[in-house]
Amino acid sequence: MSEQPINCSFCGRSKDDVTVLIAGVTGHICDHCIEQAESIIREERVQQSTAPDLKLKLPAEIKQHLDEYIIGQDDAKRTISVAVYNHYKRLSYTPTGDDVEIDKANVIMIGQTGTGKTLIARSIARMLEVPFCIADATVLTEAGYVGEDVESVLSRLLQSADFDVERAERGIVFIDEIDKIARKSDNPSITRDVSGEGVQQALLKLLEGAEVSVPPQGGRKHPEQKLISINTKNILFICGGAFSGIEQIIERRIKRSSMGYQQDGISIESDEILQFVAPVDLRSFGLIPELIGRFPVITYLQELSPEALRRILVEPKNALCKQYIRLFEMDDIELKFEGSGLDYMVEKAVEFKLGARGLRSIMEAILNDAMFEMPGTENKTLTVNRAYAESRFDQDTQTGLKVA
Ligand code: ADP
Repeated sequence: MSEQPINCSFCGRSKDDVTVLIAGVTGHICDHCIEQAESIIREERVQQSTAPDLKLKLPAEIKQHLDEYIIGQDDAKRTISVAVYNHYKRLSYTPTGDDVEIDKANVIMIGQTGTGKTLIARSIARMLEVPFCIADATVLTEAGYVGEDVESVLSRLLQSADFDVERAERGIVFIDEIDKIARKSDNPSITRDVSGEGVQQALLKLLEGAEVSVPPQGGRKHPEQKLISINTKNILFICGGAFSGIEQIIERRIKRSSMGYQQDGISIESDEILQFVAPVDLRSFGLIPELIGRFPVITYLQELSPEALRRILVEPKNALCKQYIRLFEMDDIELKFEGSGLDYMVEKAVEFKLGARGLRSIMEAILNDAMFEMPGTENKTLTVNRAYAESRFDQDTQTGLKVA
């Protein structure tokens, strides 16, 4: 019996014309057709996952989700919920004919370190199940200088999307310490501060919604490295920075504008002044107008009060206390926190001026001995009150354990 020629049942290519031909029950499929089918499936999945899924998250629902993880910062959470909602509404919107194009609304968050800026951005990305990456503006430089090219930001996003370009193109990028690339002087003609302004210019390219060539593994663009093209049109950029000293800029502006009709000026508590932040203040701080123009949404995070810090220890879904209780539980140890112990940790966090960021290392310093000594012993309960916390913490700081 002569052998029948084997062909792909989909495209008809013969076995000799393809690299791989896989046999099924009644036919065959070649590598070309598998690849094509895969891209159809991927496209289909993207379409299914953008539209219906995103419609479900209304601004109030996004905020509710953020409430589970972030204490306080209501204004920032509301503003960002709306920005994210609009952003994804925009993604599922197809302009028809001469219809309106909706612009992207990138966000700038202003607030001291450890007030929850990164946490907000991260929580949003987790909720939306989109790729997310954090970049530090201080390591970015203009092309040609020592440091990372701005494209490296997108390399990171691509990595977090498992190199799925389409997913990366709908991701969220959080750029921290954006204030550190401010121009040092308000007057561009006096100081042309290359490092800061140059990076701002370079960042514009990412924010403008262009096709950007990205080295997949990050780092510098090497001629031999194959670049991947990413369109940044639908990538949401959220920037954060402490902008230290901006309160004075805001205050001066408000006082100036109120002069003439208000004799004694106005008095605003210094911890309330941030809520009046406007684009013009960012300009005075040293961001270039083109960059500010790309960030229509500006919001602020308040310094965390001792009450807020105390709530952060116990309330969020993955609050520090809950995490350590679970860690001890795994060794069958019951860990309890008394109010006085929590108060002590808060006092120390305030003292170190690290916002909520300090809480973790303080907790670690207090519990480290117990985590070393207790597993495997008969001692199955530990209560952290002020006396215990104080004794362990003092001991640790005296022996040189750095709290930061
Ligand atoms: P920032 O980006 O503002 O410097 P982060 O968001 O990185 O600060 O916060 C550092 C840590 O402090 C977070 O991992 C989180 O555990 C905690 N934290 C900060 N702010 C809050 C907050 N408002 N609510 C709950 N936890 C917070």
